[in-house]
Amino acid sequence: MEAKKIRSTFIEFFQSKQHHYVPSSPIVVKNDPTLMFTNAGMNQFKDAFLGNEIAKYPRVANSQKCLRVSGKHNDLEEVGVDTYHHTMFEMLGNWSFGDYFKKEAIEWAWELLTEVYGLDKDRLYVSVFQGDAGDNLGMDQEAYDLWKAIVPEDRIIMGSKKDNFWEMGDVGPCGPCSEIHIDLRSDAERAQLAGKDLVNNDHEQVIEIWNLVFMQFNRVSDGSLKPLPATHVDTGMGFERLVRAVQHKSSNYDTDLFAPFLAALAKKSGKVYGEDLSTDIAFRVIVDHIRAISFTIADGQLPSNNKAGYVIRRILRRAVRYGYTFLGFHEPFLHELTPLIAANFGDIFPEVRQQQEFIAKVIFEEEASFLRTLDNGLKMLDQIKADLKATNENVISGKTAFDLYDTFGFPLDLTSLIARENGLSLDEKGFAVEMEAQKTRSRAASESETGDWVMVNEDQGVEFVGYDYLKAHCQIIKYRVVSDKKGDKYQLVLDKTPFYAESGGQVGDTGWLISETEKVKVIDTKRENDLIVHFVENLPKNPEAQFGAEVDAAKRFATENNHTATHLLQAALKEVLGDHIQQRGSLVNQNLLRFDFSHFSKLSDDEITKVEAIVNAKIRENIALSDQRNVPIEEARAQGATALFGEKYGDFVRVVTFDKDFSVELCGGTHVPQTSKIGLFKIISEASSASGVRRIEAITAQAAENYYREQEVLVKEIQEILKNPKDLKKSIEGLLQERNELKKELEAVHLEKASGVKVELLKQFVAGDGINTLIAQVELHNADSLKKLAYELKNEKENAFVILAAKIEDKPQIAVIIEDELIKSKNLNAGQIVRELAKEIQGGGGGQPFFATAGGKNLAGLENVVARAREMYL
Ligand code: ATP
Ligand code: MG
Repeated sequence: MEAKKIRSTFIEFFQSKQHHYVPSSPIVVKNDPTLMFTNAGMNQFKDAFLGNEIAKYPRVANSQKCLRVSGKHNDLEEVGVDTYHHTMFEMLGNWSFGDYFKKEAIEWAWELLTEVYGLDKDRLYVSVFQGDAGDNLGMDQEAYDLWKAIVPEDRIIMGSKKDNFWEMGDVGPCGPCSEIHIDLRSDAERAQLAGKDLVNNDHEQVIEIWNLVFMQFNRVSDGSLKPLPATHVDTGMGFERLVRAVQHKSSNYDTDLFAPFLAALAKKSGKVYGEDLSTDIAFRVIVDHIRAISFTIADGQLPSNNKAGYVIRRILRRAVRYGYTFLGFHEPFLHELTPLIAANFGDIFPEVRQQQEFIAKVIFEEEASFLRTLDNGLKMLDQIKADLKATNENVISGKTAFDLYDTFGFPLDLTSLIARENGLSLDEKGFAVEMEAQKTRSRAASESETGDWVMVNEDQGVEFVGYDYLKAHCQIIKYRVVSDKKGDKYQLVLDKTPFYAESGGQVGDTGWLISETEKVKVIDTKRENDLIVHFVENLPKNPEAQFGAEVDAAKRFATENNHTATHLLQAALKEVLGDHIQQRGSLVNQNLLRFDFSHFSKLSDDEITKVEAIVNAKIRENIALSDQRNVPIEEARAQGATALFGEKYGDFVRVVTFDKDFSVELCGGTHVPQTSKIGLFKIISEASSASGVRRIEAITAQAAENYYREQEVLVKEIQEILKNPKDLKKSIEGLLQERNELKKELEAVHLEKASGVKVELLKQFVAGDGINTLIAQVELHNADSLKKLAYELKNEKENAFVILAAKIEDKPQIAVIIEDELIKSKNLNAGQIVRELAKEIQGGGGGQPFFATAGGKNLAGLENVVARAREMYL
């Protein structure tokens, strides 16, 4: 059975059992501070499990894109080394929200695996939770009895909390689970040793394929378990492992899911998969990682310097590095695999097909830049090797290796490999110490602790009224404390709120909660899954009271100007640049708007002017906002509404329109009622923000007016400085021309002077012992002329050894140059000499053995430099 068929069979099986098929949620998680990437099928249903939200369908089946490279579930180091852990994988799941429980889950799983997919019953083992004293839980008798009715008892394994109690993170919904394992060894091997003994033992051929989780508890932050309001089923089956089992392969990579990728890589590298362990690992790493990278980029996460973006960058670099070291790829190659991603996964995950070109471009740029880094790192290592040799040492220090890693992104294992190749060793312990120290530093900077919700009033759901009102009467439903280094802050959930929670790029509202007796400032509002969370510095003394919630209107209005302007900008960009413009990120606050979009070249001044003109014309047209709420998503798409990749849209969406022929977007943000409120729009910068992505920053209203006024004042001031010339432009051009002429004249004078100096110096060489030595103090006008002078002296005198102590613009500098021959024959090293002499001017420097320079702080020390050099070398 082909992989595609295996996937659709799963969905159809559960559809026949009244399950509703839902598409995968994005692999990149937004609005959840505890998670960067989807790591299990259940993530998108977390709110339903916690009871924050009522599930739309009691039974659901899906295939979820998962990524396990950070946090509680991190398989990265295994990937490629073994044959059954991936970074990105599909998790097939069936779900019951307060509907069926263990019986159906267990029976259907068995039916599907053995009767539909025809897996050999003799190869399957199941596990049951044995209980845990610490959590005060007994064994899962119910699951045991259900399994006993299906499989012989000796195929049931009792499992500990580690293996048979599923938890998403430190807190959240959890419960006992039953896993299904398969033994894929040969019959001969199976006859020798029972598969049962190999279950949960990291054996490559005896692996877990399906986990049936029975959600019964919520783990709260003090570590204790609270029963959930209803019980649920959450199952997860690794699709790639299932395909391997159904296709009788001994590795996930031997299935038709990976075969085309391996073949492409073999062709490109000229190497064969399956011949050598380290090349095989490289093959597997690359064909695995390209999936993770492509899917996350498609869902809107670009490689970057921090957080989720940095995780993606590291995965990409891991792939490039394996390709570089083991497959001989010294030019970008990963991006060439993206057409295969589109061809193989475009049916079920259309986003990778729709964005194929963009994904390829982003990957190419990242690869190219990392390969440059690798090259630079290699050069740095050459220097490090030379320095070690000069001091007769052979250990690269942990600090040096860490600097290479931290500053240049140069991976430790590569440093270590190169060290070994050069007969050097590496202080790996020292590296680990540096790494730990950095982790501690960043942990200390970010550590915060979140307490459990404290209920205040009965939870009857949360109503957002902020599209229509800036004030509302409300009650606090629940609150919790968040503590970090700076102290305690509180988060509140209200039953009714006009506060807009940060999302879609628009910042959260600020304002006040006012009761009869107190006034509490709301400093921010954020979403957490479907909750609207208000951040306050102090908890109201009487949380049960009735409050008036009041949004800071001035800030909200300024923000709305910028949000609506962002919509107009996007529509204008499409008109001017073309339909390929896709939003890649945005920020909207009271001061400015920032809009990132896919486009491959810099905007010309002309294009920017056109875009500004369109937006300002639309502002003057005074178009009224049309905001349709609760539009079925299909209908919204039919209206041509612009949607974002990687955004999780519900079945009903809000459509924001300013002129139905101009700007129609799916958007949850707040907007001006009429465009004329924006007043004025001005782009203040346009630049590249990532590969294939441009960033525009713009301002509106008062800020734009201020901008033009400042420009006007600036021109006036310049006019005054230039004594109010008739033609300002001509006057500046004249000044510049005059300056250029003067500069040329001055250079000529310097040159004349320098050649006079050189003639003088050539006379001062002292001959002896096969060396012509010159030690002199000079005065020059820049560092370049010092280097030039040193080279000329060396070229014009045989066997030259020159030490120049120079005063350059009141700063001391030293240059040392040595004829190549002398380096060996006389054991002279310019780098070492310059470092020694630099002590006299309180400075430092370095270079190569034949030429080195140093700068310093103490000008008066120059005389000592000359004196010491004479003492040492004359
Ligand atoms: P393992 O012990 O093999 O790492 P797990 O206990 O981490 O598995 P679960 O968290 O229960 O797995 O996830 C459910 C299913 O997802 C597993 O039964 C397995 O089939 C699949 N799975 C888990 N991690 C990976 C991975 N890194 N790559 C591919 N499939 C995976
Ligand atoms: Mg695991």
